[in-house]
Amino acid sequence: MSVQLDEMFRELKPPLTAFEAQKEASRCLECGGPYAPAPCTLACPTRIDIPRFVSAIRRGDQDRAGHIVFSSNPLAGTCARVCPTPVMCEGACVLNHVGQRPVAIARLQRNAAHAVSNRAAIDLVSRRGQSRRVAIIGAGPSGLTCAAELVQHGYQVTIYDQNPEPGGLVRYAIAPYRQRVAPLPDEIEPLTRAGVQFRFNTRVAGRDAFSELEKEADAIFLGVGLGQDMELDVPGHRLFGVWQALPFIRALKSGRPPAIGRSTVVIGGGNTALDVAREAVRLGSEQVTVIYRRDRHSMPAYDYEVSEAEAEGIRFHWLASPVGFLGEAWLDAVECQYQELVPDKVGRFFPEPVPGAIFRLPADTAIMAVGQVARTELEQWISGIRFDHGRLVMDADSTRTPNPKYFAGGDAVGGVSVVEAVQWGKRAAEDIHRYLAGED
Ligand SMILES: Cc1cc2nc3c(=O)[nH]c(=O)nc-3n(C[C@H](O)[C@H](O)[C@H](O)COP(=O)(O)OP(=O)(O)OC[C@H]3O[C@@H](n4cnc5c(N)ncnc54)[C@H](O)[C@@H]3O)c2cc1C
Ligand code: SF4
Repeated sequence: MSVQLDEMFRELKPPLTAFEAQKEASRCLECGGPYAPAPCTLACPTRIDIPRFVSAIRRGDQDRAGHIVFSSNPLAGTCARVCPTPVMCEGACVLNHVGQRPVAIARLQRNAAHAVSNRAAIDLVSRRGQSRRVAIIGAGPSGLTCAAELVQHGYQVTIYDQNPEPGGLVRYAIAPYRQRVAPLPDEIEPLTRAGVQFRFNTRVAGRDAFSELEKEADAIFLGVGLGQDMELDVPGHRLFGVWQALPFIRALKSGRPPAIGRSTVVIGGGNTALDVAREAVRLGSEQVTVIYRRDRHSMPAYDYEVSEAEAEGIRFHWLASPVGFLGEAWLDAVECQYQELVPDKVGRFFPEPVPGAIFRLPADTAIMAVGQVARTELEQWISGIRFDHGRLVMDADSTRTPNPKYFAGGDAVGGVSVVEAVQWGKRAAEDIHRYLAGED
């Protein structure tokens, strides 16, 4: 990113100095013990031993702290920047119950991870010599983690990704005020050193490609995430100035920020919608409005994200849907219709348009962020693979799919965050190891 973009997208959570980190660490009550893990640790999907690494920072032993965090989470530096901590570790901190702010666990984790990865000291101990091969589709957080675990069991691991660089959505979608690229390269380097092979710009697609892979590999992990943005079939959606969320963010993350107008309308109620709204503010749009077809209470975005967006001046129109993008060649306005929530037979509420309740929002940019589609094309290419409600179907309590050679995890199976994808990758690696060791 250019210096100007760096300035626009200043990090929301900048690093702490070593002194600040020690001072913050001394606030931790170091709850928990061998028989009852601390609430923060239980709230972390990768079960990082938080009191232990925070205590190491307090003692000034950042290196030890780093090894503790990486032993549970090979993307600990990334997670420190992007985890939704108010609903995970920091939300569970006991200090919340006594009217104090929680320990800044993620920022301490960032210090710990930095201390180690900076010295390139995280060595994945690979037991080479295993002849079994595992193919991983997707170099996102789930695929990278699965590879990190499997290479330590000695397997020969190859990761395929259609993108030119690793990281999946972390590299191409996560808001640049949380994470640009670093520390991904530092986190991937140990995998390469341990012998993981990467095949970038390689989309594995079609029956033949998967049959070929099945001959080469003893097990296959599908860390494929979700596909492109869902399209809204609203008249005018091809006008200049109307964007889909993922290409918009991808352009921004690649250092070519999209041209943006004074007034931006964002459609959607999830975290991606709030991200693009906050990105539009930073790119200079003076009026940014989010419209969502249900009420605030029903928004899938985290509540704290909505409050942060409001504090940045973003306006919300709840219970409204776009019915037309208006303009000649370029967008001039978004026509919207108010909705009301109507119960169905079992009491679930669905938005229904209110007849005649139409209004217009002047806009020169509109960004549609209404979710991503599942990669259901895999059903045609791999026998036994099935999707149900947009999720890849797996055996109960396992990462194994109905096709015994295939395992899956991450967003493709219902995850919604990086740290969850990391945990899926860990679980899948264990299941694959058991399968290849003949224990399953
Ligand atoms: C805009 C946005 C912002 C987000 N912000 C946050 C955040 O702040 N914090 C957070 O924790 N989470 C965030 N998330 C969610 C998080 O990024 C995902 O949960 C996580 O990346 C999922 O990891 P994954 O490994 O399952 O899939 P992905 O990260 O999607 O990676 C899948 C990879 O598989 C590759 N692939 C797929 N099919 C094939 C194929 N056939 N051949 C070759 N390669 C293939 C893709 O190219 C991709 O690189 C955000 C998501 C979005 C969309
Ligand atoms: S990985 Fe994420 S959820 Fe887990 S302790 Fe670190 S910041 Fe918290």
